[in-house]
Amino acid sequence: MRRRAEVDESRRAVSLPASVLSELYEHARVTAPEECCGLVVGTDRQPYRRAVRCRNVMTLMHSRAPEQWPWDNRRGFYMDPTDYQPWVKGESADGERVTAVYHSHVGAACYLSSVDLDLVDLSQFPHAEQIVISVGEEQLAAGIFHREGIGHPFVGHPVVVAAP
Ligand SMILES: [Zn+2]
Repeated sequence: MRRRAEVDESRRAVSLPASVLSELYEHARVTAPEECCGLVVGTDRQPYRRAVRCRNVMTLMHSRAPEQWPWDNRRGFYMDPTDYQPWVKGESADGERVTAVYHSHVGAACYLSSVDLDLVDLSQFPHAEQIVISVGEEQLAAGIFHREGIGHPFVGHPVVVAAP
């Protein structure tokens, strides 16, 4: 089993626009106690332009094949393919592409679990950064994970709100 990837607070913080971060937090908050998931899309100039919510169908996957998918929506996420399919082909007409995939952890910190790491490599967006939102009792937090390429380890960076 792979070791999970943690946020390294000593690393450079990555700035997300307030509109995007608040959308991720809102999605995580309304979906709790289940995990939310989705995409962040943007351009080279504006990599974190907007969030695209996807439905989490892990509970459905679990009900169909519990041995293959031992978790439900509270413990894992599986993005509904119909929600992300339009983005698989690459850039949209206006130059937007998937720059990050996000999901939430309810009552747990921002890290990529060993399961999260395995699923990234199976996903349609293995080159995207990964954002994890932690939904705590009192507050929400986010971390963003980047790797130099497939096969390299993910490094976790703290997330801050971009200056307007
Ligand atoms: Zn996770």
